[in-house]
Amino acid sequence: MQRFGRNAYDNKIMNRGKVLELIATGRCRTRNDLVRSMGLTKMAISNIVTELLEKDFLTEEEKTPSKKAGRRSTVLAISPKAPKVIGLLLVRERVEVVLCDSCLNVSFRKSVLINQITDQDLIQIMFTLVEEALAFDSNVMGIGVSCMGPVDSEKGVLTEPPYFYGIRNLPIAKLLETRFSLPVRVNQDNVSGALEEYLYGNGKGHENMMLVGLERGVGCGIIQHGQIRDGFRSFKPEIGHVSIDVKGRRCVCGNRGCLEMYINSEEMKKQFEKICGIKEELADYYSICHESQFSEMMEDMMEKLSSGISTTINLFNLDLVLIGYDGVLLPEKYLNLLQEKINEKIFYSDSMRVIVRKPYYGADAQLLGGACNIIHAVFNGELGIDS
Ligand SMILES: [Zn+2]
Repeated sequence: MQRFGRNAYDNKIMNRGKVLELIATGRCRTRNDLVRSMGLTKMAISNIVTELLEKDFLTEEEKTPSKKAGRRSTVLAISPKAPKVIGLLLVRERVEVVLCDSCLNVSFRKSVLINQITDQDLIQIMFTLVEEALAFDSNVMGIGVSCMGPVDSEKGVLTEPPYFYGIRNLPIAKLLETRFSLPVRVNQDNVSGALEEYLYGNGKGHENMMLVGLERGVGCGIIQHGQIRDGFRSFKPEIGHVSIDVKGRRCVCGNRGCLEMYINSEEMKKQFEKICGIKEELADYYSICHESQFSEMMEDMMEKLSSGISTTINLFNLDLVLIGYDGVLLPEKYLNLLQEKINEKIFYSDSMRVIVRKPYYGADAQLLGGACNIIHAVFNGELGIDS
């Protein structure tokens, strides 16, 4: 008996989450859309919607009837009174906070640059940023963290990040939960970004896709069959450590010729500087990388990237690759070249064509992805809306 009771309750929570997802991500606008999408009865949908309207999660407005249809209908939307979400991005250079609704409309954001920091200082910065977001709006359903890896997302711990001022085993979820008494979900930055793009961005409709982040290393987040792809201790696939040269230099991971030894921001800067003789920021170099003097170097970069990406595609059979972080600076011509090279290398090239694009939310994909770690938990019923 108990088991049935629990299942019915779980279903209720999951259905509420699904309704919110379909409305927040723009996939449905009316009760009829929800009936078609979810395969539930009109009565069941009507009950869920009524509950969500009463709780101020949803709002509805009357649509002007068309002459042809002549009937009144109402359009559903996320209520401005619905609880917001805090997203926190933690990477080597900065900590950033964002406060947004479940449609990713941002109402507050702030960033703090970091360098040579202790774990105690870092914790204080995270606390202060979250406090500032809560001071802006305290009606918040949780804190989602998007964090450089490696991350144990089950425990919410940043385990052993390389080159991170000696900080290790930072129990992010526990620290934030204890301080703010809010649910916390932690995931790797590119995984969070992939989730964000899958729900709201250019990954919509792609059940098997990947976000590749180009920065100090090369990271990725993979969505497979509409779910985040992970493995042992919830560790995520590491595209940066796919070897593209078995006789290459030894990497910190122990392998040789790893992709991120060739494609990382410092290496790219060195190559640009060697060609043009001027020291610039990577963004400045990328703004002129369409010039012919860089074409050989850029083509080599796309060759190497395509090698690592196509190996990953052959393992997971993905049909969309989004190139994020510094990759959002790449000119379209090189994204097209990358797409061409990937499609030359994949095994299923006869029956599958891989698309390469930038994230819809550009360089903000990973930050907004932080918030999506909470939003997704609500959508899939893991975090319930109280009854
Ligand atoms: Zn490696």
